[in-house]
Amino acid sequence: MFDTVIVGAGVAGLTAARLLHAAGRRVVVLEARDRVGGRTWTDRSPGFSVDRGASWIHGLTGNPLTELVEAFGMETSEFTVGSFQAGGRPIANYDEAHRELDEAATEAWLADAAAVEERLAAAAEASEPGESYADVVDRVLAELGWSEERTARARAFHRHRTEEQCGADDADVDAHGLDEDAIDGDEVVFPGGYDALATGLARGLDVRLEQTVTAVEWSGAGVRVTTGSESFEARDVVVTVPLGVLKAAAIDFEPALPETVAAAIARVGMGTFNKVFLQFPERFWQDGAYAIRQLGAGSVPWHSWYDVSAVSGTPMLLTFAGGEWARRIERMPDDEIVASVLDGLRRIYGEAMPEPTGHWITRWGSDPFALGSYSYVARGATYEDHDVIATPIGGVLHLAGEATWGDCPATVNGALLSGHRAAERILGRAIPLRSLAE
Ligand SMILES: Cc1cc2nc3c(=O)[nH]c(=O)nc-3n(C[C@H](O)[C@H](O)[C@H](O)COP(=O)(O)OP(=O)(O)OC[C@H]3O[C@@H](n4cnc5c(N)ncnc54)[C@H](O)[C@@H]3O)c2cc1C
Repeated sequence: MFDTVIVGAGVAGLTAARLLHAAGRRVVVLEARDRVGGRTWTDRSPGFSVDRGASWIHGLTGNPLTELVEAFGMETSEFTVGSFQAGGRPIANYDEAHRELDEAATEAWLADAAAVEERLAAAAEASEPGESYADVVDRVLAELGWSEERTARARAFHRHRTEEQCGADDADVDAHGLDEDAIDGDEVVFPGGYDALATGLARGLDVRLEQTVTAVEWSGAGVRVTTGSESFEARDVVVTVPLGVLKAAAIDFEPALPETVAAAIARVGMGTFNKVFLQFPERFWQDGAYAIRQLGAGSVPWHSWYDVSAVSGTPMLLTFAGGEWARRIERMPDDEIVASVLDGLRRIYGEAMPEPTGHWITRWGSDPFALGSYSYVARGATYEDHDVIATPIGGVLHLAGEATWGDCPATVNGALLSGHRAAERILGRAIPLRSLAE
């Protein structure tokens, strides 16, 4: 008999498990995969780190991850482009004719991006319930009354922003869907791999791998959690499976989840966001730019290539697909995806560009233990809906995970804080987060 069963060994589950274990509770973590970390997943097979899931800490200031990664001795590298900013750090922008923007053109573009940004918050505030991010961007652009090309460029930029930030098309994201998208401080990535965080959190815990949970029975008397091969009884359970898995009803809750929780699960969106890493024999792009970005017409389907060479120690570009395009590439063979990315790059760098020597492509939407990449405020949903999913049920059943943390869903820090909240609710008292590093 355990005190608490934790379902899922991602950052949320391991955080809750670690805090409860430190408080003297008997805890077991059940994980479907053959590894811990969930959507933080470092592939080291090429001889360097390829983070197939999360890469960034989105802002070091006031972030619970900052102290923790330091305590775990994780090497970081500054890379402040992780939130689809127009400026802030050097970006090599290319115009509609695939020519690099000079200084004056860059300034003009940044001023345009800032002008839209300035008006967006007020436009979202004034939006009607059920309006989308695309609706408010269109309204702002109509007010600005720019030329067709300027408008199209700003339009495309904001479209790509929801694809990257939400894994969803702008028409599917609520008008308020990027309200919480603020970055405080520098962003960093991990040359040694993000998975060291989960490995550190899992140290000393009873984690059972390849245990796919199929049912959770709960009552005032406790819980029974069933996997393909075993069943575990406990006083309470924390379920941290991704929102995609909850939406697919892959776990049978008995009794069913209360209507308020089930409705919030249905309303919040699960986005799809995939990564394509391309390794080249040598650099053919300019030094000093954090990213290469195609603006306006020609920015579909690929638009931003991030120079992650310093992270992997080899010439490497990383690009993303989000929303419908991300779902489509999951059905395409690797060589077709690579050829399509190279087409976009050739329009900028010409035919002399070398062929890649390696590629790594993710397919999170078809991953049965994720069924998507991260959650977002879908049209008609609210940030509060995220937190409603975590409403304690019957005093014994707690849902946690990035999708349950309304302040900053879709992040590793959101996952961590949701695990912390679940542990505090179970113990009925505050627990200092720094105890995670002990
Ligand atoms: C491509 C990509 C890029 C990202 N980039 C960033 C980034 O740069 N910065 C950032 O902060 N965030 C990023 N994120 C989001 C971040 O990775 C997640 O928000 C966070 O890792 C989620 O943690 P979690 O514990 O909530 O869920 P998970 O890590 O998904 O953990 C849930 C666990 O439950 C397991 N599970 C599922 N079903 C079952 C079952 N039936 N039985 C048992 N176990 C089960 C899963 O295998 C998984 O290990 C990215 C995500 C993706 C996919």
